[in-house]
Amino acid sequence: MQRVYSHENMTILSSAKNLLELNGIDCFIKNEYHASGGHVGWGAVPVELWVYNEQAADRAISILDKELNQSTDLPDWQCKHCAEWNAATFESCWKCQEIHPA
Ligand SMILES: [Zn+2]
Repeated sequence: MQRVYSHENMTILSSAKNLLELNGIDCFIKNEYHASGGHVGWGAVPVELWVYNEQAADRAISILDKELNQSTDLPDWQCKHCAEWNAATFESCWKCQEIHPA
């Protein structure tokens, strides 16, 4: 077994897990209960994503690298309607709901 990813945010980790499962890689989450249970401070114990098969670890890491960094590579966009700036992941303007002109 090998750890391929870790993050304090359970939502992000869950999507990482889904991603690997979609690619046919068996994986499991460690420290899940620490992170979501609130027994320790938020973020004190990063949740970890592990693969059962070490042979799949390299592939898993490259999949996660590619997919999870994708949105952060995109530039922020400026709304044509109200000129407000929006994060690349927003599909519509947070202020006036104008749809992203992509
Ligand atoms: Zn706007």
